Amino acid sequence: MSDVKSEKIIRHLSDKWKGRSCPMCGTGNWNVSDKVFELREFNGGNMVIGGNSPIIPIVPVTCDNCGNVVMVNGIVAGAVSHESEEKTK
Ligand SMILES: [Zn+2]
Repeated sequence: MSDVKSEKIIRHLSDKWKGRSCPMCGTGNWNVSDKVFELREFNGGNMVIGGNSPIIPIVPVTCDNCGNVVMVNGIVAGAVSHESEEKTK
């Protein structure tokens, strides 16, 4: 998926996180992914395409010092439009 509003996520995070550094190592800069990933409901190890299983769009934010990854909900962060959200339903 190429339609990622990275600037929007970064603005969202600097507003909400207020420049906090990584909680694990206490240093480091955040690296916001320009790709959105997805969390699927676990289904006994079977991949279910479509159907009613919810998918959560995730934007990984990685600490460039220790590698800690914070998963931010793409919808809340404004990275994913609501049209895409509809598609995942
Ligand atoms: Zn860190």
